[in-house]
Amino acid sequence: MTRKASALSRYPEYEATIGIEVHVQLKTESKIFCSCPNKFGEQPNTNICPVCTASPGVLPVLNKKAVEYAIKAGLATNCSIAKISEFSRKHYTYPDLPKNYQITQADKPICENGFIEINVGGVSKKIRIQRIHMEEDAGKNIHATDTESFVDLNRAGTPLVEIVTHPDISSADEARDYLMQLHAIVQYVGISDANMEEGSFRADVNISVKKRDSEKLGTRVEMKNINSFKFIGQAIEYEIERHIGILDDGGKITQETRLWNTKDQKTVFMRSKEDAVDYRYFTDPDLPLLIIDEDWVSRIAKTIPELPHQKIARFVKEYGILAYDAEILAETIELGNFFENAVKRCNEPKQVSNWMLRNLLGYLKEHKLSLSECKVKPDMLAELIEEIVKDVINSKTAQDVFNEMAETGKYPSIIIQEKDLRQVGASDELDALVKKLVDTNPDVANNYRAGNERMLGFFVGQVMKQTGGKANPTVIQQLLKKYL
Ligand code: ZN
Ligand code: MN
Repeated sequence: MTRKASALSRYPEYEATIGIEVHVQLKTESKIFCSCPNKFGEQPNTNICPVCTASPGVLPVLNKKAVEYAIKAGLATNCSIAKISEFSRKHYTYPDLPKNYQITQADKPICENGFIEINVGGVSKKIRIQRIHMEEDAGKNIHATDTESFVDLNRAGTPLVEIVTHPDISSADEARDYLMQLHAIVQYVGISDANMEEGSFRADVNISVKKRDSEKLGTRVEMKNINSFKFIGQAIEYEIERHIGILDDGGKITQETRLWNTKDQKTVFMRSKEDAVDYRYFTDPDLPLLIIDEDWVSRIAKTIPELPHQKIARFVKEYGILAYDAEILAETIELGNFFENAVKRCNEPKQVSNWMLRNLLGYLKEHKLSLSECKVKPDMLAELIEEIVKDVINSKTAQDVFNEMAETGKYPSIIIQEKDLRQVGASDELDALVKKLVDTNPDVANNYRAGNERMLGFFVGQVMKQTGGKANPTVIQQLLKKYL
């Protein structure tokens, strides 16, 4: 795939400053301030109660699990956890917000001063995390027709953490790498399913461009809720190029919010951003200060698993596989476990990695399956690799066995036996077959002896044909050399 050089590499006198805010829905059983189920995809307005629909006189009660998950998010991103934090009311009005304010954390967030280390083109860089605060999600407006809209409050009160970076990101590639790492981290620590299509991991990107030698930051443009890493990268690249184009012509950037239009591959104007809206934040008098016990934080710290970047480094060191392959295998805990369990049995890390990246992931994608839905299990893949290593089957047959195994869930040894797929090795039978082929095709044989190496392919092809593809290629080569 050829890629257009980035706008920044074509205009090195410009630089981009990017900050990212991510809203992550926490997968707690119940909502953040009431006991309604926290579930996606239910009938509208079925998971609601007087609290999350804002009846007068109700009181919010903070969900302890949501606090634990926010602490996990902070620990996994190197933040310090505040001993005391508090909840505030952020006022605005919108049909999906029945209280007319959102409960969030303003001055005193639960986590601060963390970082994630990214790696772009072999260069590592710290992206500082300014803060992680807890808040409640709003409901959803559903615009059914041009004249009819509905409000679904099932989502109202879903616990969120908002993870805010410093403006340390300076390219589309860095932004994508940061988001992919953060996405893997929240899944690893088990606080969110981070499903971008269902909106449980939503990124807002702030971006500005200026000349390198200029002191003053450029005008900021915001892009909201882009739901894939690929689109986020494309949208940032597009914006950088748009800004440079305008600035280079002596024009001015207007402060605004834009959306990514996937079809036209461009960002489009959504709304102009006036100066900061006055949300009239104040401490929520219905909720006490959130005081966090240090012992609790240490207990939670013990539950943080090996994180993606640690796993990648270990895979490279321990198994000698490529960093690029390790990155894919460490994308989810499940995939990493699959790899290690298969290696445990066959002790062939490179082969396991190759088979997983080429065949297994290809198969999952083609059949739209998740790893857990797939019939291939680690010890089945390990067994397949053992059969190849022991020369029981050749690699071409192994492809067929893999597909059969994925369709039926049968072990490779069973499939090989049932379908009689054992390759024909150094047997008298194969010896006789090769001798006969050479004897009955003297022209081709002489042609080869005269120096036409390609004629070897004819014989190999014939042997494969007559053995149903089961002959051992190395043995064929040896026998041909013997008779030619
Ligand atoms: Zn409720
Ligand atoms: Mn927010």
